[in-house]
This record gives sequence, C-alpha cells and structure tokens, in this order.
Amino acid sequence: MTRSDGCLVCASARVEEFLDLGETALANKFLTAEELDRPESRFPLRVGFCHQCGHVQLTEFVPPAAMFEDYLYISSASETLKGHFDDIASTLVSRFDLGGDDLVVDIGCNDASLLTRFRDRGVRTLGVDPAENLADFAKGTGIERYCGFFGADSAPQIARRWGQASLITATNTFPHIPDLDGFVRGLDLALAPGGRFVVEAHYLVDILDQLAFDTVYHEHVSYWALGPMRRLFARHGMQVVRAEHLDIHHGQLRATVQRIGEGEPDESVAEILALEEERGVPSFETFQEFARRTRQIKIDLRKCLTDLKAEGRKVAAYGAPAKGSTLLEYMEIGTDLIDFIADRSALKQGRYTPGSHIPIVEPERLLTDRPDYVLLLAWNFVDEILAQQAAYRQGGGQFILPVPEVKIV
Ligand code: ZN
Repeated sequence: MTRSDGCLVCASARVEEFLDLGETALANKFLTAEELDRPESRFPLRVGFCHQCGHVQLTEFVPPAAMFEDYLYISSASETLKGHFDDIASTLVSRFDLGGDDLVVDIGCNDASLLTRFRDRGVRTLGVDPAENLADFAKGTGIERYCGFFGADSAPQIARRWGQASLITATNTFPHIPDLDGFVRGLDLALAPGGRFVVEAHYLVDILDQLAFDTVYHEHVSYWALGPMRRLFARHGMQVVRAEHLDIHHGQLRATVQRIGEGEPDESVAEILALEEERGVPSFETFQEFARRTRQIKIDLRKCLTDLKAEGRKVAAYGAPAKGSTLLEYMEIGTDLIDFIADRSALKQGRYTPGSHIPIVEPERLLTDRPDYVLLLAWNFVDEILAQQAAYRQGGGQFILPVPEVKIV
C-alpha cells in the first residue's frame, strides 16, 4: 500500500478525503473454494478531492501488479459492450480515415474485443495488456500483443517493433493508471505525427448522478472529469480537442487528445466544461454531499434486506462485477443476507466474492431456486438483465436496485 504523495494530476498536496469505504479486499480477486480459509489481504479504500485542480482520486494505492496480472474481467461477456466496441471502431475508422497503413494500439486490450473490430475494418492492430492469463483469450484472433504496462519505458520498445500509432485507445483503463505522467509521456513517444489518443473513462458527472459509490475500488485510482484531464495533458504539450458524453457503461467521457499544434479544440470541449461547472464538479461540497448520500444508501439497503430476511424471504443477487464487491463489503452484506449471486461469466461461477464470500452460480439458478428478491449488483446493465430475466420476473421474482436510491422493480 502506498500513501499518495499528492494529486496524480497536478502534484498538489491539497488532496482532502471525503469518502471512506473502509478496508476491503481487492474487488476482482474472486476466490476459489480452497482459498476461502486462507487469510485475505484488505486495504483501505478512501477517496479524496484535489483543491488545486479538482481531480478526484484514491488517497492510497495498491501496487498495480497485485491487481492486473491475473484478471477475471472479460470484455466480451457483455452484449451491450460488444455493440459499443463495434460503434467505437466504425466511428473512429471513418472519423480519422484509417486504413491498412495505420496502426491502432489498444491499451488494456483485455480479450481483444475492441481490436478485432478494427482488424475487421482493415486496420493494423496491437494490444497492450499486463494480464498474462488473458493472452489465451486473444489467441486465434491473430492480434499481436505486448504483454506489459504502457508508459514512458515500454512506448519506445513498442514504437521500434510495430511503428508509431495513428491512434491509441484506452477504454476503461485510464482510471487504473497511477503514473499518469509516465503514461502521457509514453503517448507522446508512441503516437505518429498528427496521431490521436482516444480515451473513454467512467465520467464523474455520471458517478455523481447515479450515486455510483460502488465504482470506487482499488483498481480505479482516478475518477475523471474533463477539467483535470485537460490540465494533465497540457503539462505534457498535449490537449483535448474533442469531448463527448456517452450513455454506455454507466456514462462515459470520451476525449480525443492530440499534441498542441496538431489539432484545434472544437466547441464540444467548452460545452462539457460548462456542464461540469453547472453540476458543481469543481466544488468540494458536491463530494461531501455525495458521501452523505452514500452513507444513507447503506442504512436503507441494509434495512431493506434485513426486513426481507425477517419476513422469511429468499434473497439472491445478480451480477458479480467488481463494483458489487465494493458494495457488499462497504454495506457489510454477506451470506447472512444473500444466498448466492448469479452471473453469466463461466470464469466466476464456482468462485466466491472477495471479502464477503458469497458463492457465484449460473443464472439458471434464479429459475430453479426461485429467490423472492434479487439484488442487482450489475445495475449499469439493468435493461439488458431485466430483459434476459423476463421468465424469472414473470414468475413473480423482483429485483432490488441499490442506487441512486434503494428501489424494488
Ligand atoms: Zn490536483
């Protein structure tokens, strides 16, 4: 565990904590039955706000190698995400007029779900990812892979071997990076002249709107708004030239970044900054209120579940995303309140949630065991999951949504 020396964006020491989620196990370390009896490492999970630049980040960090080298999150597990990857590739290929001479590098390429879409459109591709276990999932796709972390050290090796990139993408990996300066220096080394970096990250405005406190876990060291992001790139001679607010995956900020002098910011940048101003994103009080509402959800959800238990109801949960681990641990919910969690990922079935030790089973169990209520931990896919579970709901089953307030649907 490393105590932060200050703000990851501007290095100011004025980072003030506003949310303490307690000491939790690593959110993606789902346990096998044999591991249940072994001691489990727990780390403080606290979030702070930089009074200098407005960046929101963890105040203590777990070393990345402990989290990303054996990784159970698989991008292709979600139908919604598959459609989104298709959309990213078709949009960016036509927007930047990419062809067979262009190289696209995806950082945190996971199982190559995004890169296969670029490959199918005739663009050269390279994946970068430190997770050795995921390399097998990308085999057979024909997509080359650099196994390691991206940064100022690895970027020159990548550029020497594969050439400089016309486009570098990072979808949902930018919040994971503690050494932002090294990462952005790496971008400058790996991008061809005029090349672009396109980042998608869970957007702080949506986190506030959805009260998505559960998206806080140790992997996510940063929670991005455009204001601090612009400051980061400006320190390295780069700038955000386009900003988009997307609905996908609980709300994303997509920023297109170029070297200063290689492109001009369009009006979307000022529009998104104005939105952030209007929503109070640059203000510490906004985050104090977020923390107060988070504590209230804990009171409400625990009361809901304990009341149902007292009435003799059977309660299960649906989805075992990393954020579910945060929610269960912060709420102190275990097998006393939830019998099992149904999840479609075969990698997770047969395992147990970190910290809370709830067994993960196949979704069919909702129909065979017929719990009366199901807590929806993967609430960002609510529409997709309610549609998939129509048979369970028609049989009288009900879902509990945890955020932005506890609600039964
Ligand atoms: Zn700062």
